[in-house]
Parts: sequence; C-alpha cells; structure tokens
Amino acid sequence: MERFDTVVVGAGMAGLTCARMLADAGRDVVVLEARDRVGGRMLTDRTAGFPVDLGASWIHGIHASPLWELVQALGLPTKEFTVGSFQVGGRPMEHFDGAGRRMDAEASAQWTSDVQAVDRELVPVIARSSPGDSYLDVTERALDASGLSPERIDEIREFFRHRVEEQCGAWIGDLGAHGLDEDAIDGDEVIFLRGYDELPARIAAGLDIRLGTTVTRVRRSSHGLVVSADAAECTAKTVVVTVPLGVLKSGAIEFDPPLPDHVAGPIERLGMGVFNKIFLQFPERFWQDDSYVIRALGEAGERWHSWYDVSAISGIPTLLTFAAGPLGRHLQDLTDDEIVTDVLMALRALYGDAVGEPIAQWVTRWGQDPLAAGSYSYIATGSSHQDHEALAGPVDDNLHFAGEATWGDEPATVGAAYASGHRAAESILGHPVDRAAFAAAVVARGARPVG
Ligand SMILES: Cc1cc2nc3c(=O)[nH]c(=O)nc-3n(C[C@H](O)[C@H](O)[C@H](O)COP(=O)(O)OP(=O)(O)OC[C@H]3O[C@@H](n4cnc5c(N)ncnc54)[C@H](O)[C@@H]3O)c2cc1C
Repeated sequence: MERFDTVVVGAGMAGLTCARMLADAGRDVVVLEARDRVGGRMLTDRTAGFPVDLGASWIHGIHASPLWELVQALGLPTKEFTVGSFQVGGRPMEHFDGAGRRMDAEASAQWTSDVQAVDRELVPVIARSSPGDSYLDVTERALDASGLSPERIDEIREFFRHRVEEQCGAWIGDLGAHGLDEDAIDGDEVIFLRGYDELPARIAAGLDIRLGTTVTRVRRSSHGLVVSADAAECTAKTVVVTVPLGVLKSGAIEFDPPLPDHVAGPIERLGMGVFNKIFLQFPERFWQDDSYVIRALGEAGERWHSWYDVSAISGIPTLLTFAAGPLGRHLQDLTDDEIVTDVLMALRALYGDAVGEPIAQWVTRWGQDPLAAGSYSYIATGSSHQDHEALAGPVDDNLHFAGEATWGDEPATVGAAYASGHRAAESILGHPVDRAAFAAAVVARGARPVG
C-alpha cells in the first residue's frame, strides 16, 4: 500500500492549490482525480480553434482579489466584461419589455431605478428576516412595500427570480433570505481570452496527479487515514477532500466512521444549484453593436431572458445564455437541438427574422455530471453562512475539506476554491503560506499544455 503525507481528493482549483502549496513545502502529496483531466468545473473546449469556457468564465471583481493577483503573476490574458451579479445597469444593455418591445433609454433608466429602489428596500427587510425565511419571502415583503404598479411589481418579481437562478442555480423559494448577501462585485470583472482552465493546468504542472482514479471510501483510524480508490488503497497522515458538495451529498464517497454532525449537517443543509450554459454562434450579428447584454423582462423573458455578447473571444458573433434553477434541471433531459430551438424562438420573438440559424452551439449539463452533481453551492432555506465554513472541518485534525462550498465569503466561485485550498494547506502545515511565493513557484514550473 502506498503511503503519503497527504492525499488530496479532486484536481479542481481547490485541490490543486492545496497540493501545490504542500508539495512546495516539501510534503509528499498525491492528488487522486476521477476525471481524465484536471480543472473540475473549470473546463475549456478548444476543439473549434478558439476557447469556449463550459464551466467558470469570470473573475467576479478583481479589486483586492487574491485570484486576480495570481492570474496577473502568471500573465494570463483577460478582457474586462462586467456583467455578473445580474446587474440592472452599469453597462450598455438592450432591454425588451414584457410584450417583447425594445425599451427606449428613458424606459430602461426607469426600470433600472425601480429595481435599485426595491433592492435598497430589501436590505433592511433581509436584516429583519427570521431563520427559515426564504429569499422569496423577503423579496415579496420588499415588493409589497414598494408602492409600484402591479405590472411593474410582476416584472421585478420575475427579475428577482431570474437573479437567484443565475447567481445560485436555485429556485427563489429554496434560497435562504441571506443567500445573496455575499453577492457583491468589487471592481471590474474579467473573462479569459485563452480559456480559464489554463489556470488550474498551470498549477498542476509537476504534481503527482493520478487521473482516472475515483475515490470511493475514506477510513479513519488511530494509525491515520486509508483512502480507497477503485481497486487500490493508500494511506496518509492527512486527507483533503475537495469534491463538489453535490458529490458529498450523493454519498458516492463513504466515510468510515460516518462524518460527525459538525460536517455532516452542513452537507445536508446547504444546497447545490444547477446552472448550465448555452453558447450560440451566428453568421451575423443582429443585436446592437455596443450591447453587452440583451435582457427581456416579464412574459417575454419568462424562460430565456438574458443573453451575453461574448463575441470578443472568437471574433464570431456569439451569444451566451443560461438555463439555471428548475428550468436548468428540466432542460437537461432534452436534446441540444430541442434546447437551441427553444432559445431561438425566444430570440426571434424579440428580433424577428434577423436571427439567423446558428453556425455552432455548445450546451452543458453539469447537473447530470456525477463528478459535479450540480454547478455550485448556495445557502438553502434553513442553512447559513456558517455552514460553508463549518464544512471545511477538520475532522479529528487530519481529515480536511476544501472547495468552493467550504468558503463562506464568496462561495460558488473560483476565488472561493482557491482560498479554501490555501486555508487547508496552511492548516496542515501549521504556518502561513505566502501567496506571492506560491505564484512565483507556479510561474517557475512553466506551462503544462492545455486542450
Ligand atoms: C457552468 C458554470 C459556470 C461557472 N461560472 C463561474 C464563473 O464565471 N466564475 C466563478 O468564479 N465561478 C464559476 N463557477 C464556479 C466554479 O467553477 C467553481 O466554484 C470552482 O471551479 C470549484 O472548484 P473546486 O476545486 O471547489 O471543485 P471542482 O472544480 O469541481 O473540483 C473537484 C474535483 O473533484 C473530482 N471528483 C469528484 N468526485 C471524485 C471522486 N469520487 N474521486 C476523485 N475525484 C473526484 C472532480 O472530477 C473535480 O475535478 C461556475 C461553475 C459552473 C458549473
């Protein structure tokens, strides 16, 4: 049986960061990864000759961001694209009203200011909420107090529903009242011109990573830990489990003895959302030249409401839309063509025959991927921010958890995965790990081919 100082389960951003920091400190580390690639929910398709990010795309705010520091140190090319957090204003957007009519500048400005007013009203309502209240409960209270017309309220209600779907992959009634507290963007957002998965690939260079190795059991005993993967077993003084929350919830990994309540409770209470991407490339652009986002309100946008112009990556007119929450789960059972036909119908209701037939399309199904079992975690009704942090453990001082779901400050992001891997490494080493030194070590290892 092979013996290691540390076994890291999962080669996503969290696992690779932790493993790299431990290895650089002289520890004997192995990473066990079920897929035939590293990166996990960071996945770039380059088969068409340009990158298409099927998992994460954005750094959500580069101001004072450790992740941005790392990206800059590595010299990864990015482009400013600030549209996250489902914002209503700030960047050029094409708005369509509930009847599918293009809104003029005045109507768009009025809409933006109405949403911002209700959002301001939401802050004290959330602060007064009780444990067990959902985001639906608090938004309804804020809408009731808004004094807006019933028609306007309907559109803002729809907007709130879609915002929760996009940010959390969840139905608004399943999200806790505090579920969007951390959803603030600090500074510009950026996307990656060569594909986001170059980042985990760079961190992975030189590590002992066993691909195609599915961990099924982690056994704790007084002599250390035994990790079972397929037919093989290895032992370690410490184990860091970084598989997604959805995988932990599924029971695909058996913990023996079972995890104590302080970790098992958060696994049960936190939610795992579904958020899928649909990229469509068109022979010609039919939306306005300066539009970052197309957004349909009310009935016109009931299913498909937001399209993001990501043409800058390939130079070909490209729109990205999302299928998230209950709709996202449901659509995963349809074929790609059925999904795309539905999206095109919605676009043609806004732009008519100007919408040509797509020349290329990409559709994801993260909720059906057993190694992700969803897209990212959220604070379900009845759970709390503390559940994210508690999920990190450790258990018995030697079984650690890392990954986006274990970082309460900005869960559901690459930044959270990075920070949680860093925390696990520091906890195991018992001393701080300097981020700049880590970045320099990754740079020194050079590039590992991607794609
Ligand atoms: C469609 C989509 C869009 C997103 N957009 C953004 C975005 O724009 N910006 C952003 O910051 N974040 C975004 N995210 C979230 C971001 O991708 C994740 O938060 C982050 O990549 C998670 O990293 P991780 O290391 O925690 O987990 P993962 O990347 O999931 O890594 C865990 C690894 O564990 C492996 N594994 C699972 N089970 C086993 C097992 N039994 N044995 C061995 N290995 C196993 C998996 O294969 C995986 O490689 C998005 C996610 C999705 C799905």
